Amino acid sequence: MLTLENLSKHFGGVRAVDGVTLTIREGEIFGLIGPNGSGKSTTVNLITGLYTPTTGTVTLDGWDLTAMPQHARTSRGVARTFQNIRLFGNLTVAQNLWVAQNGHEQRREHFLSRWFKPGGEHGASVDELLQFSRLYSKRDVLAGNLSFGEMRRLEMARALASNPRVLLLDEPAAGASQEDGQLLAERIRAVRDRGVTVLLIEHMMELVMGITDRIAVLNFGQKIAEGTPREIQDDPQVRAAYLGS
Ligand code: ADP
Ligand code: MG
Repeated sequence: MLTLENLSKHFGGVRAVDGVTLTIREGEIFGLIGPNGSGKSTTVNLITGLYTPTTGTVTLDGWDLTAMPQHARTSRGVARTFQNIRLFGNLTVAQNLWVAQNGHEQRREHFLSRWFKPGGEHGASVDELLQFSRLYSKRDVLAGNLSFGEMRRLEMARALASNPRVLLLDEPAAGASQEDGQLLAERIRAVRDRGVTVLLIEHMMELVMGITDRIAVLNFGQKIAEGTPREIQDDPQVRAAYLGS
């Protein structure tokens, strides 16, 4: 469904991403792991259009996204969260979602309708997204006053506001407590169960190994392995580069 073909991004002499080819299948939770600096966030930035690749292409359902600006990719169904949380701290939780919703004019009417209210005539609402994200009781709290785990869930909710087909999560559990991490894992599964394909970047191995269908491993910008969580855990090259023996 989402295909990266010989994708590279060089910053001067740094090959942040270096000839990566991989395909993410519809409906799966795909893990992207690797040491710090191995090119994971850069890969997300290439998929969303924040960066222009040095070489290669990004296609979604056969549509070449490579030359499209970010908003066009959003319209095609690509959404992401940031490794460093980007919320409006002085807006409430609900306001953050309204802003995200209204940032996509053409989607306003059927905001989230496809998967929050299948077949519903009234369309979906921010309230439903709040409930889905387990943030309803916090809707009038300033985003800046949330716990870290709540901020992470709000980040994800904000990405979901564009009604994506593919959700790219860049270290969604970073800084969250274990309990928050578990709730997040459960919500990621729930997102997938509603038909959204997920690309998950995460260092918390328990989370990655527990919820992904397949995993690719990056090292120095190159893909060094791809397979099921079990295959990845048993791969000697991966253990040497990343997991530790
Ligand atoms: P990861 O997310 O796996 O930790 P990144 O994709 O953030 O890794 O970074 C990969 C490499 O690219 C690192 O060496 C990083 O310093 C470099 N890099 C990332 N973004 C930029 C940039 N905008 N300018 C220069 N170098 C960058
Ligand atoms: Mg990163």
